[in-house]
Amino acid sequence: MGQVKGKVALVTGAASGIGKATALTLAREGASVMVTDVAADGPHGVAREIADFGGKAQALQQDTTDESGWQEVIAATLMAFGKLDVLVNNAGIAISGSIETFSLDDWRRQCAVNIDGVFLGVKHAIPAMRDSGGGSIINLSSIAGLRGNRSGLAGYSATKGAVRLFTKCAALEFAADKIRVNSVHPGIIETPIWDAILPTGEQGRNRGDLNQRAVQTVPNGVLGQPQDIANGILFLASDASAYMSGSELVIDAGVTAG
Ligand code: NAD
Repeated sequence: MGQVKGKVALVTGAASGIGKATALTLAREGASVMVTDVAADGPHGVAREIADFGGKAQALQQDTTDESGWQEVIAATLMAFGKLDVLVNNAGIAISGSIETFSLDDWRRQCAVNIDGVFLGVKHAIPAMRDSGGGSIINLSSIAGLRGNRSGLAGYSATKGAVRLFTKCAALEFAADKIRVNSVHPGIIETPIWDAILPTGEQGRNRGDLNQRAVQTVPNGVLGQPQDIANGILFLASDASAYMSGSELVIDAGVTAG
């Protein structure tokens, strides 16, 4: 308990999956958390859950592709909690399809959320973190950002590869400000993002396909859970990782080990 006690964290895409688990975990470990998501009511429910166990949270609707929205969210975080120590750029989407048939609109939409959103988050968090004496930025990449694959995720992989190198550049650029920047690379984690990647129409079937994919690709055959990733993010947010910056934290039960 108390691994991030006294810190102020902002988590995007926090209404669901990894973002929700991260917001709850950081709050349980003592952080005050600004919970945001493009889904209108989602972040408020998570903030209520945090309040229910005595944690501190506020919620805002935020589309991470909107630059003025970032300015408002950072200002609201400073107003509510007085500083910013941790930013988790978690919001992301996945659109699957062959390169040959992929539309330019879908390509741009995916780049907007997965790359522009991360860039804007870093850009607008930096001044607030500098004023707070330093901080930790955690960008959600993927194992799809580490190597190629043939599963129709070329566009998604391109965005996650971009996040990986952008993270390293930011780590170098802001080291003197005591701001650490690291990327997290989840493997196959059971969240709603897969409902879009495996569009079989029926929820139950999707999850069945996802389990099958885990059996085939994960060395221990087990699907990861959002909490598995939240635990790694907690480490990067905490002072236990004080000597880590520009690093890639891979949490995939060994999928990329071979
Ligand atoms: P999820 O779909 O459960 O959650 C994503 C959240 O982001 C949703 O609540 C959604 O409303 C929000 N979001 C989407 N577009 C947004 C926008 N423009 N502005 C603000 N919020 C927006 O998915 P997840 O699996 O929890 O994904 C979280 C992150 O982890 C993503 O960046 C994803 O690419 C990455 N990731 C997930 C997996 C996995 O297997 N689940 C693997 C590797 C990486």
